[in-house]
Amino acid sequence: MPRSIMHVDMDAFFAAIEIRDNPTLRGLPVIIGSDPNLPRGVVSTCSYEARAFGVHSAMPMAQAKKLCPEAIYLRGNMSKYTAVSNELMSIFDEFSPLVEQISIDEAFLDMTGCEHFYSDLKTMGMTIKTRIKNNLHLTASVGIATNKFLAKLASDKDKPDGLTIVNEPISFLDSIPLKKMWGVGKQTYDKLLKLGIKDIPTLRATPIEFLIKVLGKQGYLLHQLSQGLDNQVVEPAEKNKSIGAEETFPIDIDGEAVRKELLILTDKVARRLRKQGFSCRTITLKVRLPDFTTFEKSRTLLEPTSDTDLLYQTVLSLIEFFKGPYRLLGIYLGNFSNALTKSLFADQDNKDKLWQTIDALKEKGLDIKKATILDKESR
Ligand SMILES: [Mg+2]
Repeated sequence: MPRSIMHVDMDAFFAAIEIRDNPTLRGLPVIIGSDPNLPRGVVSTCSYEARAFGVHSAMPMAQAKKLCPEAIYLRGNMSKYTAVSNELMSIFDEFSPLVEQISIDEAFLDMTGCEHFYSDLKTMGMTIKTRIKNNLHLTASVGIATNKFLAKLASDKDKPDGLTIVNEPISFLDSIPLKKMWGVGKQTYDKLLKLGIKDIPTLRATPIEFLIKVLGKQGYLLHQLSQGLDNQVVEPAEKNKSIGAEETFPIDIDGEAVRKELLILTDKVARRLRKQGFSCRTITLKVRLPDFTTFEKSRTLLEPTSDTDLLYQTVLSLIEFFKGPYRLLGIYLGNFSNALTKSLFADQDNKDKLWQTIDALKEKGLDIKKATILDKESR
């Protein structure tokens, strides 16, 4: 059965929110990011007016300043953006039971079977765009296709405020630059160019055996995608499958701020873990770098734990693998046991009780510092 996958992506999300909330910024180049006077600052988001000057996300602030010195530079307000994102996600939930959020401002919606609520796919796309515009006073770009790969490319095709429906996958793909294909990063792109593969039609015409020989499994996948084939399903984040928390920063962070953010995230996931009466063995750290590349690294402990200290020490050992600054940090716990920590250490039972006391105090609104003092005193 052919599927109907919709990808919805907000236009210049952070900048658009700032302009919405301060209309005097409308029509001006607006750049959200680090302090422009900091040497290593980067652009987080910018308005389309700023993009006309060549400014884009992840660009060093110094370069943006050179390209567009007259722009309005703002530091960004992550808690506001997160609140708008939550409203956006609840709109998505009204349209489909299968929603996969892939970042703060975009998601895949599996609309298969829901199409008959609309006279055609265009009406379906316009309905969600209008709903977002009326409720959030922001514009979104929408792509509709038979799979995730094509839907994601389609939402990007006619930004901002776009709506693209892919009826003819092959001719649609032929209009897309090779660089925009999934799995074609800088390294793969250079490799393909050396092989004389400079666009998607050439990739499609290249024998699959040859691609597998030079690129392995990736060669097979790229050949599939070049034909518009992609079987990946829309996967809503399953509750309780893993316990996790992540934070995207309006400005990339580095140094001491990283340790602090990791402690906040560890504390958050550890409390949720204990609240559910679980211990875990696997700790996964997710990092996104300023160039948007995302990595995950996991460590599995010999024994299950629910101890914040131990979880935090593990997280710190994992962050060593990556060089900052970071755009996003996330911590995911998995491999659960049903009981609270059963450790070889004799004092573990007391420690469990201590953490439960701290959690209870925090829930009553006592601040973290006091709880930390209590922690130290109890030892
Ligand atoms: Mg976006």
